[in-house]
Amino acid sequence: MAKKNPTATHSVANQVPPLPERDVFGQDTALVDAVNRHAGHDHVERLHQLGTQAGRTYWRDIGLEANRDHPRLHTHDRYGHRIDEVQFHPAWHELMDESVGWGLHAEPWQREEQGAHVARAAGFITWTQVEPGHMCPISMTYAAVPALQTDPDLADQWVPGLCSTEYDFGLRDPSDKAGLIAGMAMTEKQGGSDVRQNTTVAVPNDGGSYRITGHKWFCSAPMSDVFLMLAQAPEGLTCFVVPRVLPGGSRNSFHIQRLKDKLGNRSNASSEVEFIDTYGMRLGDEGRGVKTIVEMVSATRLDCVLGATGLMRGAVSQAFWHAQHRGAFGSTLIDKPLMQNVLADLALEVEAATALALRLAAAVEDAAAGDESAALLRRIALPAAKFWTTKRSIAVTAEALECLGGNGYVEESGMPLLYREAPVNSVWEGSGNVNALDLLRAMSKEEGTVDALLSELGTASGANSYYDASLKELLNELSDLSGLEYRARRLSSRIAVLLQTAQLIKYAPAGVADAFAVSRLGRDEGGQFGTLPPGLELDVILERAMPAV
Ligand SMILES: Cc1cc2nc3c(=O)[nH]c(=O)nc-3n(C[C@H](O)[C@H](O)[C@H](O)COP(=O)(O)OP(=O)(O)OC[C@H]3O[C@@H](n4cnc5c(N)ncnc54)[C@H](O)[C@@H]3O)c2cc1C
Repeated sequence: MAKKNPTATHSVANQVPPLPERDVFGQDTALVDAVNRHAGHDHVERLHQLGTQAGRTYWRDIGLEANRDHPRLHTHDRYGHRIDEVQFHPAWHELMDESVGWGLHAEPWQREEQGAHVARAAGFITWTQVEPGHMCPISMTYAAVPALQTDPDLADQWVPGLCSTEYDFGLRDPSDKAGLIAGMAMTEKQGGSDVRQNTTVAVPNDGGSYRITGHKWFCSAPMSDVFLMLAQAPEGLTCFVVPRVLPGGSRNSFHIQRLKDKLGNRSNASSEVEFIDTYGMRLGDEGRGVKTIVEMVSATRLDCVLGATGLMRGAVSQAFWHAQHRGAFGSTLIDKPLMQNVLADLALEVEAATALALRLAAAVEDAAAGDESAALLRRIALPAAKFWTTKRSIAVTAEALECLGGNGYVEESGMPLLYREAPVNSVWEGSGNVNALDLLRAMSKEEGTVDALLSELGTASGANSYYDASLKELLNELSDLSGLEYRARRLSSRIAVLLQTAQLIKYAPAGVADAFAVSRLGRDEGGQFGTLPPGLELDVILERAMPAV
C-alpha cells in the first residue's frame, strides 16, 4: 500500500484543467466568418489545419520554452574573430520553421490567388496565440516584399527567397539558401519617429552600390538575411537593401553591439548595430527613402493590428475557459452576472478587432491588385486601426489575465507572455501619437482618403441610432480643422471604433452589433471592461466567443 504523503494537508480541488487541444481558428466564429466574407470558402480548410496545430499542447509548451531561454549574442568566436551571431533556443527555430512552412511570412505575394493575403491575416491572428515574439521577423519578411517590388532587379534577387516556405537559418550566401528572412533598420539613438534625424551616411561606389557608415539603435531579428535600411545619401534620406552575407559568402560589415533587455517580445532578439563601410544597394531614388520604406511600414502596421487581435483572442479564450471551470461562492464563475458582463465586454472588443483587421487585410490585398479606392481606405484606416487596436490589446490582456485571478499572474498560465507582449505593437511601427498624426497626414495630404473613409462608414448608416449619431459627430469634428493635431488621438479612436461598428452592423448578429454600439458609442465608463448596461443579449455574445471544446 502506498504511504500517505506526510506533508499533504489537502487534496487539490477546483483548479481549472488546461485548455484542451482544439482548433484555434475553427473556434473563433468571428474570424471564420470574416475569412468566408473576404477570402472565400476555399481558404477555410487549410486554416482549420493551422488552427488545429496552433491548439496543440506541444506548441504551447514550445512557445513558453522560447521565452524562457532568451537569445544570446556572440560577438566573437573562441579565437577572437568577430562573428556577430545570435544564438536562439531550438524552440525559436521550430516556431520559425512552422510559421514559414505555413506561409505566414511572404508567401502570399507569390501565390496569385484571390484571398491569399486575407487568409494569411487569419493565420497570423491564429498563430500569434502560440507565440507572438517570432511573428516579428515573419511580419518583416512579409512587409519587405512590396517595398522590394518597386525595383525589378532587386525584387528578382530577393523576393523568391523571401517567399520560399523553407526556413533555412544561418549566415550563408543568400543565393545558396533555400529560404530567406528580412528585417528593417530605421531607428537611431537620436530619433526613431523622426527618421529625418538619421545620421547614418551612405557614400556611392562606382558600380551603383553604396558604403554605409553609422548605427541603428533598434534592429530586431539581426540574424535575418537582408535588411531594408535608411541612411543619408548625397541627395538625402534614402532606402537601402543591406545583406548580412555578400554574394560569394563573405560577411557584410554588421557589428552587433548589444541585445536589448526587453519588457516582452523576449524570444525575439532586438539589437544595436554599428555599420562601417557596409555594402548596400539603393532601393528607390536618393532622397525618397521614407516614401520607399513606407511600403514596408504599412504592411507591418497591418501585422500590428493582426498581432494585437491575436493576443486579445488568446487571452480572452483563456479567460472564458477559466470562468467555465472555476467555482466561487456556490457556482461557476461563468454563471456570475458580473463575470458575464466582463467576459461579454471583452468578447465584443475581440470580435470588433477581428472584423476590422480582416477588412483591412482585404483592403491591402485589393490595393495590391490595383484597386484605388481600397488603397485610399487602407491609407486612412490603417493608422487609426493600428493606434486603437494595439492600445486596446494592452487593456484587454490585463483584464483577461485578471479573470484567472492569481493563476493568471503566474508564468505557467501563459497570460504574462501575452500581457507583456501587448505594448510592443503600440510602440513599434509608429508609436501611438505618430500613427494618430499619420492619420491627419493622410487626410490632409492625400486626396480622396476622407471620401474613401466616409463611403466605407456610409455603408452601415441607418441601422443603429448610436452609430448614426456618432457618425454625425465625426462629420462635425472634421468640419472644424482648428487644433487638429491636439485632437489626433480622439479622432483616430472615433474613426477606428466607427469602422469596427460598421463591420459589426453589417455582418455580426444584431445582439453583438447593438451591444458594441451602445457600449462604445453611447456612453463613457472610463474605459473599464465589465460595464455593459443591462438589457443586452449576453447569451448571444458569450456563445459566439466561447472556446467550446
Ligand atoms: C522591441 C522593439 C523592437 C524594435 N525593432 C525595431 C527594428 O527592427 N527596426 C527599427 O527600425 N526600429 C525598431 N524598433 C524601434 C521603434 O520602431 C521605435 O522605438 C519607435 O518608432 C519610436 O521611436 P523612438 O524610440 O525613437 O521614440 P521617439 O521617436 O523619441 O518617440 C517618443 C514618444 O514621442 C511620441 N512622438 C514622436 N513624435 C511626436 C509628435 N510629433 N507629436 C507628439 N508625440 C510624438 C511618440 O509617439 C513616442 O510616444 C523597435 C522597438 C522595440 C520596442
